[in-house]
Amino acid sequence: MVSLKLPLLLVLLHAVFGSAYRWFNWQYEVTCESDAYITPEDEAATAAFLKAQYPRGSLIKVVGNGHGFGNLSTCVDTTLTNKPSYIVSLVNLKSLKIDKKNLTVTFGAGWDVHDLANELKANDLSFNNLGAERVQNFVGATSTGTHGSGSLVGNIGTQVTGLRVLDAQGNVRIVNETTNAEELKAFRISLGALGLITEMTIKVQPTYLLKKTTKVLNATTNYNQMYNEIAQLYKEHDRMTVWGPHFDWNDEAQQWAIEPQFFASWWEPTNYTGERNCTLNYCANGCGDCIKNYICYDEVTDAMSCPPQGVCTREFYAEIEHFFPIEYLAEAATNYTLFQQAQTPRMRAPYNNQMIFQYRTLKGDDSYLSPVNTYNLKPEQSGVFAVLEIDWMQTYNNWTTLWQNQDLAFEFLPHFGETYNVRSHWNKMSPANATFAREQYPKLPEFLAIQERQDPKCQFVNEFLVGQLGVDRCAKYL
Ligand SMILES: Cc1cc2nc3c(=O)[nH]c(=O)nc-3n(C[C@H](O)[C@H](O)[C@H](O)COP(=O)(O)OP(=O)(O)OC[C@H]3O[C@@H](n4cnc5c(N)ncnc54)[C@H](O)[C@@H]3O)c2cc1C
Repeated sequence: MVSLKLPLLLVLLHAVFGSAYRWFNWQYEVTCESDAYITPEDEAATAAFLKAQYPRGSLIKVVGNGHGFGNLSTCVDTTLTNKPSYIVSLVNLKSLKIDKKNLTVTFGAGWDVHDLANELKANDLSFNNLGAERVQNFVGATSTGTHGSGSLVGNIGTQVTGLRVLDAQGNVRIVNETTNAEELKAFRISLGALGLITEMTIKVQPTYLLKKTTKVLNATTNYNQMYNEIAQLYKEHDRMTVWGPHFDWNDEAQQWAIEPQFFASWWEPTNYTGERNCTLNYCANGCGDCIKNYICYDEVTDAMSCPPQGVCTREFYAEIEHFFPIEYLAEAATNYTLFQQAQTPRMRAPYNNQMIFQYRTLKGDDSYLSPVNTYNLKPEQSGVFAVLEIDWMQTYNNWTTLWQNQDLAFEFLPHFGETYNVRSHWNKMSPANATFAREQYPKLPEFLAIQERQDPKCQFVNEFLVGQLGVDRCAKYL
């Protein structure tokens, strides 16, 4: 009886799941061929799928919206393995429970950040911190440590109070502040390596208004002076993004020319009662004519982040984002800028357009894989991190230019990592170095122990995870 059932189940699964599926990330440069794209109806169907795949050791990559610059969401290409390889999206898991009394929201893994933000707004609630955009899936964003800016606010993961997760055999595990509490520190930022999160509970707050002030700043090639001024501004404003300096590509000189001005925006609570108007200007995200002084007021979500219609950059770009103790801000920013300038003669590919530096801050936390984890800070350091981003934007979607800029982007972490205790955003051009990761993430061994329990046959890993985290037991996962 059992021997008849299994082939029948496999035929049915094939009929339901269809055939080969090619996965792409948001800008189509990360891609892989899988056997199928699986979108289970609910948690039970997801568990049944995992249970059926476990004996086969199928490779399973759970994805959000692919909104990253790295290979976290890359499946194992079917040309590299004899095992089945699947992309799983939990887009259909759309349960929602808002608990206004305890100020929490519990939601299925299918929710995108933007939609959830709107649901909260309709209930006079909001998140305290979001990334610059809201096009991500919420669990996808949480799982990589997505963040906005604020010395007193943490990344999205710090808002998580509990979750339900399926291991490779389809068993549900509940992790929250009372059950498996220590493990919450591993699951808040889990890179898809610890199983399929089906439901999350996060803290929310009564909605409130922010005043957003944008001020034009003068740029100078005296980088030390400019970055000391920026570091000083961060002492005056705890919630601020510095969008700049900006550089434009000069084709004739084959060099970057610094633009004379850039801008900073800072946010503060207000008791303003007039029109809410931050969504009339999406300059939070570099769209349009942004280098001008202005003030706007809005509900915290709309003041701090861009809805999908405010996302304007659709050409290829390469990007790094590095986190280091804020005490290093002026010195590190100066040396990063000089290091970039030393790279410029090697930027021979055409179609460079603009290079933008961006600075934010973030409060440190205790999630095992948080890029702002405080486990290895010096005693005199405050626990606040500076966040340095560099974007290399193109005029045209040319692969040679993208790959050139990505190769150069990978050089920053080996160069500055040890000097400034740098950690890279997991989904932004992070070069693999497991030895270094072990130093920057002192709780990595604990994370890997949970990974082994959740995924004994290495079904949830890919080349990126094995290289980044040093999952040695999975070296032969293909
Ligand atoms: C243009 C642009 C702007 C950005 N701006 C910011 C910013 O301001 N701040 C910032 O911090 N980041 C920013 N990012 C990075 C982005 O927020 C992260 O890469 C985020 O993780 C992407 O979310 P996603 O839903 O697309 O997830 P994906 O890239 O699809 O997945 C991310 C990770 O989550 C895992 N995952 C997804 N769903 C589940 C699940 N149900 N269970 C378990 N694991 C899961 C995946 O396996 C993967 O490891 C930006 C990225 C881009 C492209």
